[in-house]
Amino acid sequence: MKLGDVGEFGLIERIARRVGDARPPVSVGIGDDASVLVPPAGVDLVTTTDTLIQGVHFLVGGTPFEDLGYKSLSVNLSDLAAMGARPLQAFLSLGLPPDCQLEEVDRFIDGFLEASPPGLQLSGGDTVMSPGGWVVSVTLIGQCPAGRVLLRSAARPGDLVFVTGTLGDSAAGLSIIMGKSAPEDDSDRRYLVKAHNRPMAQLEAGRILSDSGVCRCAIDVSDGFLQDLGHLCSSSRVRAEVDLDSLPVSAAAENLARMIGLDPFLWPLTGGEDYQLIFTLPADGPARSLIFSMEKAGTRTSRVGRIVSGEGVVLFEQGRPRPVPPRTGHNHFRA
Ligand code: ADP
Ligand code: MG
Repeated sequence: MKLGDVGEFGLIERIARRVGDARPPVSVGIGDDASVLVPPAGVDLVTTTDTLIQGVHFLVGGTPFEDLGYKSLSVNLSDLAAMGARPLQAFLSLGLPPDCQLEEVDRFIDGFLEASPPGLQLSGGDTVMSPGGWVVSVTLIGQCPAGRVLLRSAARPGDLVFVTGTLGDSAAGLSIIMGKSAPEDDSDRRYLVKAHNRPMAQLEAGRILSDSGVCRCAIDVSDGFLQDLGHLCSSSRVRAEVDLDSLPVSAAAENLARMIGLDPFLWPLTGGEDYQLIFTLPADGPARSLIFSMEKAGTRTSRVGRIVSGEGVVLFEQGRPRPVPPRTGHNHFRA
């Protein structure tokens, strides 16, 4: 069925039916002119938005619609995770091409709702025609105990630098999707492609870090580890020293890089879209017990370096300085 057969209001009605009634702390959800959130006492509200455009962030045909829906929510959840916030409300604006099939939008919504953690409600959005292809814009509101948000600007000399999960899997997955590489092992292929198409936001890690009161500083890895750590350093006016030997890299990504003759650190350092968290902790605080809680909650955590005074990111390999790769990650509008 074509989207034109049900029209804008038919589509909104279909989405609203899937989502169901608003629940506290949302008192008005989809269906009125605007949504109403009744914030609990003692919380800070945290808001983020991200836009994905066909041909820039994804190729229709290249990405299953379910994955597109899943990822468009995940990348936003990752920003809330990096602030230590718990998601409450989502707003989804869709620009859809005139020849769009209703089934494609249904599949997109399936993926979007699949990525939706308990506590998050789709509370509104906008639906418009887009002659240039799909445009997806997601806005999220989350909450954090008052004064407990994690900031890029809060790293201090003497802190240790940690990262969750593994780095470079998404870039390896993209190289497979683009036909530039092919793992011998099928489970490696599935793992890496999934890392690219269905990234998992590190919400639980962000929540534990913010609850701890010990961690003040985090950023998510969306544009590449070096670039995002660079943002953290410039916001905090500090330098990060990173030990390459301790970077967490999956065997699947490392084997694939070696197979195609790539420096195995290239994807972990500069590949984007890992959606892991980089965070810092004072070296003399209860870092060890916090890391233990995160591991217990199922989040792998690696200590990858330290914060010192100065600026920028410097790399060490087996204790010796190593040059930083010239292109450090994704940057729109830059050649
Ligand atoms: P208005 O013209 O007043 O902006 P709309 O017709 O655009 O209202 O939207 C009607 C209701 O449907 C609103 O509550 C809006 O938030 C919701 N809505 C519209 N598009 C979407 C969407 N893609 N996903 C979720 N809710 C949507
Ligand atoms: Mg509208």
